[in-house]
Amino acid sequence: MLIRKSFQFRLYPTKKQKRLLQECLNECRWLYNELLSERIVAYDELEMHLSKYDQMMFLPLLKGEKPSLEGVHSQVLQNVVDRLDKAFKAFFRRCKKGEKPGFPRFRGMHRYSSFCYPQSGFSVVENELKLSKIGKIRIKLHRPIQGTIKTCTLRKNASGEWEVSFSCEVPAKPLPQKESKVGIDVGLEQFAVLSDGDTVANPRFFKKGEKQLAKAQKKLSKLEKGTKQRRKTGKAVAKIHDKIRNQRKNFCHKEAKKIVENYQYIYLEDLEVKKMMEGSYFAKNIADASWSQFCQILTYKAEEAGRQLKLVNPAYTTQMCSQCGHIEAKELKERKHNCRKCGYKASRDLNAAQNILALGLDGLGTIPRSPRL
Ligand SMILES: [Zn+2]
Repeated sequence: MLIRKSFQFRLYPTKKQKRLLQECLNECRWLYNELLSERIVAYDELEMHLSKYDQMMFLPLLKGEKPSLEGVHSQVLQNVVDRLDKAFKAFFRRCKKGEKPGFPRFRGMHRYSSFCYPQSGFSVVENELKLSKIGKIRIKLHRPIQGTIKTCTLRKNASGEWEVSFSCEVPAKPLPQKESKVGIDVGLEQFAVLSDGDTVANPRFFKKGEKQLAKAQKKLSKLEKGTKQRRKTGKAVAKIHDKIRNQRKNFCHKEAKKIVENYQYIYLEDLEVKKMMEGSYFAKNIADASWSQFCQILTYKAEEAGRQLKLVNPAYTTQMCSQCGHIEAKELKERKHNCRKCGYKASRDLNAAQNILALGLDGLGTIPRSPRL
């Protein structure tokens, strides 16, 4: 079985290459906005839905109108058509479900940060990434690329540096089968509590990073817009964000790896549902973003290793007694589970993890959405 895996690396473009990358990004953004307006006009004036194929056919015409598009690899342009089409498909899918999604939007200068070679036009030779129409850019391969490279995405990060991400097809590497089963509860006090009593502590960078960010952002907000000082501070904030993002990713990889090595059957709460239930208490903090990433990484690592991972509905996992099924509401500040019916005592999160395990074993779990990596 083949699975998708992504590999990211920092790029070291020369000044000229940086300019070419930026120009390519600008052309793609222009095209995206142009295609979006085509769709809007076609619908408003002719009540016509333009498809991806209609828009692909218009590409040569557009090149006639805007010759600078010729400077971009043709598949990169086709990928922009594809992206817009995906945005529309997601929009219509959510409308159908009765949700109220935002209509696909025009992208401003800082709202378009990547472009993709979906098939060809790129190659990696030793320490160079060769891109059609751009040139050979120095790349630092800090780990080997595995499998077959399928797509190559160039991204400008918040601090203005360029990165490349390869999506590769690699053969799954099943681990020897085991009998072990585990339920996992993620929380604020500990990063995660396992149903067998193991815990994963919150790493120190959670607190440290949040403090740094708060401080830098406060400083930023006091500076006048458009000044040099503000631009500088803005870059510093972006750097902190990037650093936290990397630390978070490494941490999630490490913890997910341990779990996949130790357990065959893995049950987790559906975090999307949990967030909706618990509302504002799940502030957008580092821990919150980490849980989602942890769940994604765990999902794909489990798939790669031939483990079974299921998401369970988080309703009542906190309130219910894992030993007798008695349900009693708990305040958020109550950190202990103390059952009035059967006398079972445990930490709040351990009791929840045990409930998650039981729900998973009852077959009440659902298959997780495929990970977006
Ligand atoms: Zn009980």
